[in-house]
Amino acid sequence: MRLGAAEVGGTKVFCLVGSDPNHIVAQTRIPTRRPTETLAEVFAFFRHEVSSGGPLAAIGIASFGPLELRRSHPRYGFIRTTPKPDWSDVDMVGPVRSALGLPVGLDTDVNAAALAEGRWGAARGLDTFVYMTVGTGIGVGAVVEGRILHGLGHPEIGHVSVARQAGDDFAGHCPFHGDCLEGMAGGAAITARWGRPAEQLGGDELRAALRLEAAYLAAGLGNVVYAIAPQRIVIGGGVAGLPGLFPLVRASLAKTLAGYPGLTEHAADDFVVPAALGSLAGPAGALVLADRASRPGPFPS
Ligand code: ZN
Repeated sequence: MRLGAAEVGGTKVFCLVGSDPNHIVAQTRIPTRRPTETLAEVFAFFRHEVSSGGPLAAIGIASFGPLELRRSHPRYGFIRTTPKPDWSDVDMVGPVRSALGLPVGLDTDVNAAALAEGRWGAARGLDTFVYMTVGTGIGVGAVVEGRILHGLGHPEIGHVSVARQAGDDFAGHCPFHGDCLEGMAGGAAITARWGRPAEQLGGDELRAALRLEAAYLAAGLGNVVYAIAPQRIVIGGGVAGLPGLFPLVRASLAKTLAGYPGLTEHAADDFVVPAALGSLAGPAGALVLADRASRPGPFPS
């Protein structure tokens, strides 16, 4: 089945045509400018692919948010208020549907990435797991019994409260909460704390930064474990690539859980694992959204 996928990010839109990450027949990257001209280029790419390669069954869009995802809401499919200039209150579904005449599936970039890791990546075969991306900020997509968790909006697990480490007087870097998970452990927080980005740290500073990072990620993940009972936690994003972070996160998480509820699975090395799809997770997730949109059925998104 030929599907179209677009990951809409702050700096570029990654468009592709294919059926899965191993069968991508065309792809392009379009700079994110103003909505109208950016979407026009996206439409041109897909129209060209249809005329040269044959019809598409559906389009999936994985976008930065916040998005209105309640289907009954008059603004379903719109980007809500975003700091990105010109992109607040932009309809991401209607124009695509009418320009290309195809069903459109939409979700956030992190939710889409979670779906992709579930179908092809590090959470394959599981039905309840979380995908966390630790980049500039922290995003978390939760899949519960096979469905992406949605409710009144989408969850914002990156902003859960975390217990402060003893002796840590860093104020935190979240504009809303200061010392929430993202405010203590996002890439921007690391830069604010140390005066330069994580990948430029070395020696004792890097060791101290890793220890704090692991402690705060584990504090946030402890909340996730208790709230959602995931079978696995998959972590991606630039900060997750710091050397030696995963063993520290596993050890800190064990400390956070403190033996309760005593599941041996929580202590296994495959409970907290690196993401498998890398930068393809978002666009591959858009393929899952397209696939779901192409079949009228029980899928909620
Ligand atoms: Zn926050």
